[in-house]
Order: sequence, then C-alpha cells, then structure tokens
Amino acid sequence: MAAMKWSGWGDDDVSFTHEDKPALGPFLLRALDLDVTRGAARPAAFDGLSVPEPSLSPDLSAALAEAVGGGSVSTDRLDRVVHARGKSLRDLVRHRRGDLGRLPDVVVRPADEDGVAAIMRAALDADAVLIPFGGGTSISGSLEAPAQERRTVISLDVSRLRRVLAVDAASGLAQVQAGAFGPDLERQLNAQGWTLGHFPDSFTHSTLGGWIATRSSGMQSDRYGDIADLTRAVRVVTPSGLLVTRPVPHTSTGPSVREMVLGSEGRLGVITEATVHVRRVPERRVILGYLFPTWADGLAAMQAIAASEAAPSVTRVSDASETGFSFATRKDPSVVDRLKSRALTTYLRRRRGFDVDAMCLSFVGYEGSHGHVAEQRKAVGRIVGRHGGLCIGASPGELYDQKKFDTPYIRDFLLDRGALADVSETAAPWSRLPTVYDTVMAAAHGAFDELGVRGYIMCHLSHSYHAGACLYFTFAFKPSARDGGLAEYDLVKSAIQQAFMDSGATLSHHHAVGTEHARWLEQDISAPGVAMLQALFTGVDPGSNLNPGKIA
Ligand SMILES: Cc1cc2nc3c(=O)[nH]c(=O)nc-3n(C[C@H](O)[C@H](O)[C@H](O)COP(=O)(O)OP(=O)(O)OC[C@H]3O[C@@H](n4cnc5c(N)ncnc54)[C@H](O)[C@@H]3O)c2cc1C
Repeated sequence: MAAMKWSGWGDDDVSFTHEDKPALGPFLLRALDLDVTRGAARPAAFDGLSVPEPSLSPDLSAALAEAVGGGSVSTDRLDRVVHARGKSLRDLVRHRRGDLGRLPDVVVRPADEDGVAAIMRAALDADAVLIPFGGGTSISGSLEAPAQERRTVISLDVSRLRRVLAVDAASGLAQVQAGAFGPDLERQLNAQGWTLGHFPDSFTHSTLGGWIATRSSGMQSDRYGDIADLTRAVRVVTPSGLLVTRPVPHTSTGPSVREMVLGSEGRLGVITEATVHVRRVPERRVILGYLFPTWADGLAAMQAIAASEAAPSVTRVSDASETGFSFATRKDPSVVDRLKSRALTTYLRRRRGFDVDAMCLSFVGYEGSHGHVAEQRKAVGRIVGRHGGLCIGASPGELYDQKKFDTPYIRDFLLDRGALADVSETAAPWSRLPTVYDTVMAAAHGAFDELGVRGYIMCHLSHSYHAGACLYFTFAFKPSARDGGLAEYDLVKSAIQQAFMDSGATLSHHHAVGTEHARWLEQDISAPGVAMLQALFTGVDPGSNLNPGKIA
C-alpha cells in the first residue's frame, strides 16, 4: 500500500473535481459563498519544507536495526512527515502551510511480532516515545507527538503485518495481523468465501489494528456490528510482555481486558494480531434509496426499523441539507435521467404533497440469501410507507456505494479553494436524538453568526442500535483569517462538541478521543472515569513512553 499524500487524503493520482458535477458550483456559491471557478491554492511544495534533523542516538539506531533489519529503519524526510500526523482538518491545514509539528525521528517497520517486541524493548531501554501507526487516517489527533517532547520519537508502522493467518470455519473466526488494510483483508478473506463486513469510509487506507485502537464503525455495522463487537481476541506487545486474550464467545474474567485494548489508541501497547468474527460473503447485496417528506419522518422510520424484526445491514437517512448536497454532487445527468427526475419531482409535489426542499434521502441496505433480502425489503417497505416515505429504487444506492470511498477527497478540494470542511459525530438514545440535532444546529449556526461567515451544516443518521443511533454532522465555511482559519474552526467545532455534551450525547461514536476530543472526556465519562483511565495508562506504561498525551 503506497503512502497517502503528505498534505491531503488518499492516493497521489486521485483528486475530487467539480467539473463533471454541474450543480455543485452553484450549490457552493449559494451555501458557502465559494466560487469554484476561481484559482485553487495548492499546498506548499514538499521540497521547500523545513524538516528538522532527526534526534536518534547511534545506540538506539543500532538497536532498532537489530530488531527489524537496517532496511526497515527510516529517517527519510517524506517518511517522517507522512508519519507525523493523521488526516484531521487541523492536521491537513498545518501540514499544508509547512507547520509540521513534532516529527517522529525515525520510522520502523517490523516484519513480525518478535520485531515489535524487540522495538518495544529498545524504545523502553532508551526512554524513547513509541507511537503505533496503522494507516495514518486518524481524524482525532491520535498520532502526533506532543509539541514539547524532548525524547526520541519512534513511529512504529505495522503495515508489514498484513496477513490473514487462519480461518476457523466452524466458529466463523479469523486470525489476522493488525497491519492488514481494509482492501487487503477483504481480498484474503473473500478468496476463502468470508468477509469481515467492516467498511468505514476510510476503508481503503486504514488497518485492522487502527480500527481496534479507535473503536471504529463501518457502514454495514447494523448487520455485522462495530469493530468492538467483531473483535473476539487480541495479541498486544506491552511494556511488560505479550498480552494475549482467548477467542471465546463470552467470558466472565472480571473487567474486560479485551475492551481495555479497544479504543486504547496505542497507549497500552502495539496490537499485533486479532481474532475477529467473519461471515460468509452474502449471496445478494443491495442498497435501496428512499425519500421521506421530512427529517422527523426519516428519524421515526429508522427508529421503527430498529425496533422491528427487520435486520438491514445499513440504515441511513440524511437531513434536508445533506439531501440537497447529495443531489448537487450528482454527475452530469443524461437527458433520460433529467426527465425521470423531473417526473419524480412532479409526482412528489402533486401526488404526495412533498415540499422538495424539506425531503430527506435515505439508504437502507440488505444482505443475505435472495429470500432473506426479499423479506427484509418488504418489511422495511411497510415501515417506510407508514412514515410517508417511498422507495426510489436501487440506482441511487448503487451510486452511493460506488462513490463513498471518493467522498473524503472533497475536503482537499475545498481546502484548495479556501474553505474548511470537517465532521463531528456522536451517538445518543432514540429519545434524545431530535434534541441533539436541534442543539447542534443552533450551536453551529450561532458560531457561524459570531464569526460573521456563511456556513453550512448537514447531518445524517447511521449505525442504528436497539437503544439509539449515531448522528454524523458535516460542516463547512470559508474563514476570514489568513492563518488557515484554525481559530475560527475551533470555535465552530467546539460549539458542536459542547452541544453533544449539553444534550446528553457522547463526544464521539467512532472517531475516538485522541487530542481533539480529550477536553470533553470528563463531561462524558465523569472525573472518576477519567482517573480510572489515567491509572490504567500509568500502571501499564509508567514511563509514559507509549503515545503520550492521547485520551486522558
Ligand atoms: C476521510 C476519513 C473517513 C473516515 N471514516 C471513518 C469511518 O467511516 N469509520 C470510522 O470508524 N472511522 C473513520 N475515520 C477515522 C479513522 O479512519 C479511524 O479512526 C481508523 O480506525 C484509523 O485506522 P488507521 O489504521 O488509519 O490508524 P491510525 O490513524 O494509524 O492510528 C489511529 C490510532 O490507533 C493507534 N494504532 C494504530 N495501529 C495500532 C496498533 N497496531 N496497535 C496499537 N495502536 C494502534 C495509533 O497509535 C493511533 O492512536 C475516517 C477518517 C477519515 C480521515
């Protein structure tokens, strides 16, 4: 897997364009006062960056080379810059303007668990800092070394540990190395007829170990579960040795050590392997599009589906703002498409009484045998009908499915044109979701007004559970300041995060704590909760050598 762009998301040769999406330019002008036809500003040239020399003693350098082989120890400038941070908006803005932060001094790539253990020993002996690095897609500041860190910083890149080691077919369990990237992992499992079913939007560039260390969620979590449900056992190289849990379906061994590793963001050790649930690749898979007259109808329908016997793999509904954005990013429609869409709009207005500016687009996914999918579709169709919605067929769902891994590139497109776009996501009980939504919208618009900018915020519900669901907000605005607008960004992002706290939601459903959300942790889990986490981290890592400063 090639490294991602040092200054942006994804592969070097892929970028987002508005040119094949005729409605997008006018949409952005209206929503953000952003004229996409005006010149784009590219990030600073890599060669012009000021990259400080690494601080690496000959002894530590020799110990690392002995641990993994000299060819797998790198002090290359680009390698160090790529491993310095993840891909949060704050990371991208600072990288693009040449503010590189505290770079790792060295990047090491072990080939196996013994190599990881040897690196751990070398790091502890030298009192160095060790930061595990998966795909580098963290969006919560989970990878950056503290600015004032004086010790040598080692980035331990697990990407050579990428094999599916064994599948226990009778139990539906696979033993997988932690550095396996999404596509790698699915390719190896699919070849044997299995799937993990974990598809985060960052799937193409993130790893199993990173998913576990951040408690990730994939698009099909309604059927497969979040990574926390999928992970049955872990192997972790810790300062005091190899931690191994057993891949049993359930256990009563006191507070769960497996759960402590989930979401640990590299603070307890390096995950080298996990045993995960796998399922047979489904016979049929389809995502259908639906329209609801209002957001309230869409939310009520998703809640009713979660409470019913239907078990879809995806339940997702966008509010009217996100629906408007989705329609604006459609590729050049053919004449037939245009006629169809005009006919649909007329039908919705005249026959169904929809206000097309308030309507909400929804996707529901189905997987399994042909019979199962057909039954599920019927059951969901009845619920949708009861909430005033209607099915618009499979093509919007196919389109969404195809373009979901391209969407992350849009943030760089906007950054090039001077606009900041980011996300904040949360989860709350069903009974609180409307309040969470209203509180966040009021807070974000209040922040835009305070800044005097034309901002846009939109939301979708995804990842439904028995007791509630995730609300995922995307916001954008064009800052006025010349420093890249990070102070203005902070105001908006903080207003949204605080709104989560004030309305009874969590600081993040699946993006983790890192440094980005750490200041809301006490409000979320209480002061004794934070003290318990601190005691865990200090107990396991008394020298604070493992990814210091993250979570608590
Ligand atoms: C555009 C975009 C879309 C995203 N979409 C989603 C989404 O749909 N769902 C979702 O859940 N998240 C999403 N994320 C967030 C991010 O992809 C996840 O947090 C992901 O799980 C990180 O995996 P990674 O392999 O990239 O880990 P990294 O970013 O490399 O690391 C993240 C954290 O995990 C630690 N870590 C990594 N590997 C190991 C290991 N082997 N042992 C111990 N610690 C380790 C690191 O030290 C760090 O603290 C998105 C991010 C972006 C930028």
